[in-house]
Amino acid sequence: MESILVVDDDINLCIVLTEELTEIGYNANYVQSADSAFDFLEDNDVDLILLDLKMPNKDGFWVLNQLKEKGLKVKVIVLTAYADVKSAIDSAKLGASDFISKPYDLDELIITIRKVLQKEHEN
Ligand SMILES: [Mg+2]
Repeated sequence: MESILVVDDDINLCIVLTEELTEIGYNANYVQSADSAFDFLEDNDVDLILLDLKMPNKDGFWVLNQLKEKGLKVKVIVLTAYADVKSAIDSAKLGASDFISKPYDLDELIITIRKVLQKEHEN
């Protein structure tokens, strides 16, 4: 079972999205901060992170930088209410595989998740 970690300070989004992903067969978990994400990654195998850019203290860009610095190969889809071209480009430069704006369309998100996880298997 593929493992997805939702990283978002919005608890409602975390709960709803984790439930939706669990229903369609993923091992889905959530954390609400950048530091919690790295704690989780230390103890768990994660195939894909759904990452919010705007979080208090350490934001999504910090997470992307840290993943790169630590050489962690986990795939990332950025999921943010502040979708703009610059954020998308900056995220891609830091290694994000794709970018979805909030409020997300579940079907679109699932297609993107499958696409990104599929790429991982091809590599
Ligand atoms: Mg946020």
